[in-house]
Amino acid sequence: MKKPAIIWLNVSIFLVTFLVAAIAVPYRAFTTGFDNTEIIFALMCFIYCGMSITAGYHRLWSHKTYQAHWSLRFIFALGGAFALQNSILHWSSDHRIHHKHVDNNDKDPYSAKMGFWYSHIGWMCREYQAQRYHDYKNVRDLQKDPIVMWQHKHYLLLTIAMNFGIPIAFGLWHGNLLNSLLLVGFLRLVLSHHTTFFINSLAHIWGKQTYTDKNTARDNGFLAFLTFGEGYHNYHHIFENDYRNGIRWWQFDPTKWLIKSCQWLGLTSKLRTSPEDRIEKMRLAMTLKRSKDKLTLLPNTEQAILQLQQEYDLLINKLNAYYQVRKTLLAEKREQVLADVEKSELMKQYQDLKLKLTEQQKNWQILTEKLV
Ligand SMILES: [Zn+2]
Ligand SMILES: [Zn+2]
Repeated sequence: MKKPAIIWLNVSIFLVTFLVAAIAVPYRAFTTGFDNTEIIFALMCFIYCGMSITAGYHRLWSHKTYQAHWSLRFIFALGGAFALQNSILHWSSDHRIHHKHVDNNDKDPYSAKMGFWYSHIGWMCREYQAQRYHDYKNVRDLQKDPIVMWQHKHYLLLTIAMNFGIPIAFGLWHGNLLNSLLLVGFLRLVLSHHTTFFINSLAHIWGKQTYTDKNTARDNGFLAFLTFGEGYHNYHHIFENDYRNGIRWWQFDPTKWLIKSCQWLGLTSKLRTSPEDRIEKMRLAMTLKRSKDKLTLLPNTEQAILQLQQEYDLLINKLNAYYQVRKTLLAEKREQVLADVEKSELMKQYQDLKLKLTEQQKNWQILTEKLV
C-alpha cells in the first residue's frame, strides 16, 4: 500500500526546531553561555505553553471538566498558539476521537497500537487522516466559544506573533537577541512539543494499568512530572470528565492545582470530579483481576483464588455500606436536618463502617501485596 503524502510544513518545523535545539543551543551554551534571567524566562514560557495545553486545550476544551472565565480562556488560547499544536478546535476534535476510539488504528488519530514513533510524532508527518481534516462535527459546542473561533481563524498569525514576538521582545529588552531566540524560541518549543507528545506515546506504553487494562493508557508518575500531571493517563481514559488526573494528594498534578487555585480567584467554576466509590471499585476490580491472573499460573491455587474472591466480595460489601451512609450523612448535613451530627446515630454508624472498611482494606492489601 502506498504511504500517504508527507506534510512538508510539519516535517520541516519538527526537524529544523529539533536540530537547532540539539546542536545550536548546546554550542551556544559552551561558547557564550546563557544567564539566569534567560533560563528562568525560558522555563516560564515552557510552563505557560504546557499548562495552556493541559489545563486549556485538554481539560477545559476537549473534556469540559470545568468552566473558565473569558480572561483565562484568552490566556490559554494565546499559550496554545505559542505551543504550536494547532488550534483549540482542531486539537480538541482530534482528542475527542482519540478517547472515543482509543487504540483503534483506523480511527484513533494517534493510536498507540501503531507504535511509539507513530503515536509520538509520525501521525503528524503524513496525511493519514486527510479525509476528516476539516470535519469539526464533534466539537460543535466549542464553536459557540468566541475565543475558540477567534483563535482558530487567526491561528497562523497568532502562532507567528507568539513564537517570534515573545523571544524577540525579551531578547531586545534583556540585551541578547540570539540567546533569546535559541532558548525561549527554539529550545522551549522543542521541549514543549515532545513532553506533550509523550502523553500520546509513552503514556500509552510505559506505566501501570491501575484502573483498567481494556486500553493501552498507563499511569506513570515520572511522566506526570514531565507533563504537568497528565501522566496519570490510565485514570484519565476512564474518568475523562474529572478535572484531576492525579487524584491522590501526593500525586504530581500541577494542572489540577492551577485549576483549583483559579477557583479561589473566581476564574474557574463547576469543577467536575468522579464519584470516589466508583474510582475505588475500578481500582479494586483491577487488583482482583491481576491477582487472579497470577494465581492461575501457579499450581494448586484453587483455595487461594477462592479466598481472594471472598475477601474481595466482603470488601465491596463494606465499601457499599460505608459510601451509602456517607452519602446520607452528607445529604442530611446539607439540609441541616441534624442539629448535632457528632451525637447522631448515623454518625456512629458511619464511624463504625469506616473502621470496618479500613480493616478490610488492610486485609486485602496484605493478601494481594505479594501478587501484584
Ligand atoms: Zn483526554
Ligand atoms: Zn490517551
